[in-house]
Amino acid sequence: MSETVDVLIVGAGAAGMMCAIEAGRRGRSVRIVDHARAPGEKIRISGGGRCNFTNLGTGPANFLGENPRFATSALKRYTQHDFIKRVDRASIAWHEKTLGQLFCDDSAKQIIRMLTDDMREAGATLSLGLAVDRVARSGEGFEAALSDGSVVRARSLVLATGGKSIPKMGATGWAYETARQFGLRVTDTRPALVPLTFEPGLLEKLAPLSGLSVEAVVSHRTPADGGAPGRPTAETRFAEGMLFTHRGLSGPSILQISSYWREGEAITVAMAPGEDVYARLKAAKEENGKQMVHTALGHIVPRRLAESVCEREGVQGKLAEVGDKVLRRLDEAVNAWTVKPVGSEGYRTAEVTLGGIATDELDQQTMAAKAVPGLYAIGEAVDVTGWLGGYNFQWAWSSGWAAGQVC
Ligand SMILES: Cc1cc2nc3c(=O)[nH]c(=O)nc-3n(C[C@H](O)[C@H](O)[C@H](O)COP(=O)(O)OP(=O)(O)OC[C@H]3O[C@@H](n4cnc5c(N)ncnc54)[C@H](O)[C@@H]3O)c2cc1C
Repeated sequence: MSETVDVLIVGAGAAGMMCAIEAGRRGRSVRIVDHARAPGEKIRISGGGRCNFTNLGTGPANFLGENPRFATSALKRYTQHDFIKRVDRASIAWHEKTLGQLFCDDSAKQIIRMLTDDMREAGATLSLGLAVDRVARSGEGFEAALSDGSVVRARSLVLATGGKSIPKMGATGWAYETARQFGLRVTDTRPALVPLTFEPGLLEKLAPLSGLSVEAVVSHRTPADGGAPGRPTAETRFAEGMLFTHRGLSGPSILQISSYWREGEAITVAMAPGEDVYARLKAAKEENGKQMVHTALGHIVPRRLAESVCEREGVQGKLAEVGDKVLRRLDEAVNAWTVKPVGSEGYRTAEVTLGGIATDELDQQTMAAKAVPGLYAIGEAVDVTGWLGGYNFQWAWSSGWAAGQVC
């Protein structure tokens, strides 16, 4: 069986569906295939089932990659406000949770339904449970052999299979391999927005803290000699929640910093940001020297954390028994805790993949491969990675929209 269409999109995730809608609305015949049994599976599980579908403050500064400015054009042409209007038209109720992050009031499934309804209206054909076995250049377009034995010929081929994060959900490196097959450069990829892990010795010491969360400021400085393209040399910091786990650290601030951190590097954590721990302990000492040090510290940070910090610093006894030097050490242990993670939880739990199809291979207005007419790459497959907070979906919507105007 063979079929000829204008546009073949591989990957019915956020970016692929957006592209299918836009291309279909332009009157293009569109086939969108996905090997999963349902479209938009990552949308479904995102934001704890409520999908953090965009961020009010989206701009190029919220993205990493060899050339973070690459995203500017698509993000400006199809903005967060455009997507919000679309969500409003579909009567999907939403709210701002924090830091400009917009979530559905009810369910992420509403976003998937909105997109599949729009695809249907736009005349795009969605085929699920189908993989692309082979794809090759054919005449002025492409020929793809699908896993059901059929062949699809298309003038435009859109790579929209996302990144490698969460293989259990069907994530593959297909877009990268196919891009390479057509001669496009792919930058190194690594798990990002991912919990960080500690070595067993440290884990043992921190075991009592497992499950504890604190508001923290987590920072990272790229070593001057360790800069890779796109890595900022200045200090990067995030002020958000942090969670101690049985493997190391997680929570929004850690996921954010994981995109900047590399093996062998340290991160610095402030667990009582804005508090002068030294001054508060000193005042407590003057007021009541008989108070135990860990009790006094427990008025500034959670008790479990206070006990753990005192134990790790070897500080025992009453405030009256410790000098200023010790109080300063405790201050540093709380608000300038410098720690070297040994690794991350990897693609198994990473929310996104850093790196991907090199942006200098693509036209920033259309996502078209400069050297391969008719080939496009969109969404997470491209070397554009957003912060946590709705930025990655906005990139998927914007890049999918941009390709959909021309493919
Ligand atoms: C747990 C979790 C929560 C997240 N929460 C948020 C959030 O709240 N806000 C946010 O902005 N971002 C979030 N993200 C990130 C966001 O989901 C992705 O950045 C976004 O889905 C990327 O869209 P995409 O269309 O490029 O790729 P995807 O959405 O990953 O879609 C790719 C599609 O391609 C299909 N596919 C893969 N390989 C093949 C193949 N070989 N053949 C055929 N089909 C294939 C997949 O089945 C999938 O349907 C979250 C990610 C995870 C894992």
